[in-house]
Amino acid sequence: MDAPVATTPPIQLARPAPRHSRQARIAWREHVVTVGGDAPVRVQSMTNTDTQDAIATAIQVKELALAGSELVRITVNTPEAAAQVPYIREQLDRMGVDVPLIGDFHYNGHRLLTEHPDCAQALSKYRINPGNVGKGAKRDTQFGQMVEAALKWDKPVRIGVNWGSLDQELMADLMDANSRRPEPWEARQVMYEALIQSAIGSAERAVAMGMASEQVILSCKVSGVQDLIAVYRELARRCDYPLHLGLTEAGMGTKGAVASSTAMGILLQEGIGDTIRVSLTPQPGESRTQEVLIASEILQSLGLRVFVPSVTACPGCGRTTSTVFQELAKQIDDHLRAQMPVWRSRYPGVEGLKVAVMGCIVNGPGESKHADIGISLPGTGEAPAAPVFIDGEKALTLRGEHIAAEFHALVERYIERRFGAEN
Ligand code: SF4
Repeated sequence: MDAPVATTPPIQLARPAPRHSRQARIAWREHVVTVGGDAPVRVQSMTNTDTQDAIATAIQVKELALAGSELVRITVNTPEAAAQVPYIREQLDRMGVDVPLIGDFHYNGHRLLTEHPDCAQALSKYRINPGNVGKGAKRDTQFGQMVEAALKWDKPVRIGVNWGSLDQELMADLMDANSRRPEPWEARQVMYEALIQSAIGSAERAVAMGMASEQVILSCKVSGVQDLIAVYRELARRCDYPLHLGLTEAGMGTKGAVASSTAMGILLQEGIGDTIRVSLTPQPGESRTQEVLIASEILQSLGLRVFVPSVTACPGCGRTTSTVFQELAKQIDDHLRAQMPVWRSRYPGVEGLKVAVMGCIVNGPGESKHADIGISLPGTGEAPAAPVFIDGEKALTLRGEHIAAEFHALVERYIERRFGAEN
């Protein structure tokens, strides 16, 4: 007998909401990275080397690009740093790294971009912080000089507002106006308004000077999760410029990763954010590429992008007999990530691979069947056997001392068979 057909409507699929934004083009020679519109959400990062040290900076840019950063920002803070920018670009070109470089300017960007034309030309985008371009009458003049450089060299700009360097004159004006309201807003709401007005007002000034709206990207960074969500929701509602999204000064380690993921995950699910950066403070000795891995992981977890094969592993529990499955999951994950720079071209589509490494029979076979290839290791009291599932079917059982190495080899063979040239 056929099962009765449910009369309730189907549960809605969870999909990020669309937001229409203009599309910016950030290019280095023929290599173009589009941001906004129907382009995928882009991953970007920033170096922490001294830009005057051109070799160290070029090496770090290369590392970030190889880790998956599609745009890399470098500090341009002194004439000496500006003088090195063309050389950094040249080094990258020699290494075959065509990632666009973005110059991060504060205080003296108007002078550096005017007095160092080679720097202005070698960069693919300028970040302008309207809170740091000057005070009083100088503010508009110096902002204008940066926009003129962008127009002269045909470069897009990011108007990047940050609550740590918010335009204090604008903030004071808005506080004054607020005090005259019958029911004044909370100071925090006035600050949100100042961030948004600073960003959109500066963008409008740039457009009035001749910049195409498509050449302007906006950001309004704050360091609190709820603040970021509130500000970006409103920013997205009020404009259609592409948005650079990031929690500024996110912090170190787990705290930085979780706060960034929480804030950006909520906004990205609402369709807000066209390019993201995770502003992680590296732990001592930690690679700068960690921020790229976390940004990529946020997008992959949301199903917005696919960068690397995913390894599903259970957390382990009292049924887990040893650390074998933790070690195996880590080994496989590390190996897949390490191989991706080469595999991207050798095995097209491999980034969509799903591997499961599970600790016991409770969820092991089920989760492994959902993966392309999965293994269910024996838990406490189970026979010392590890069934392997391939494409949803049990394919074989591994036993003995070398389960990890044998599973590793099976994953490699699966990749070759499914994604290799012979396929
Ligand atoms: S699959 Fe087994 S070992 Fe892993 S968490 Fe679940 S019950 Fe524990």
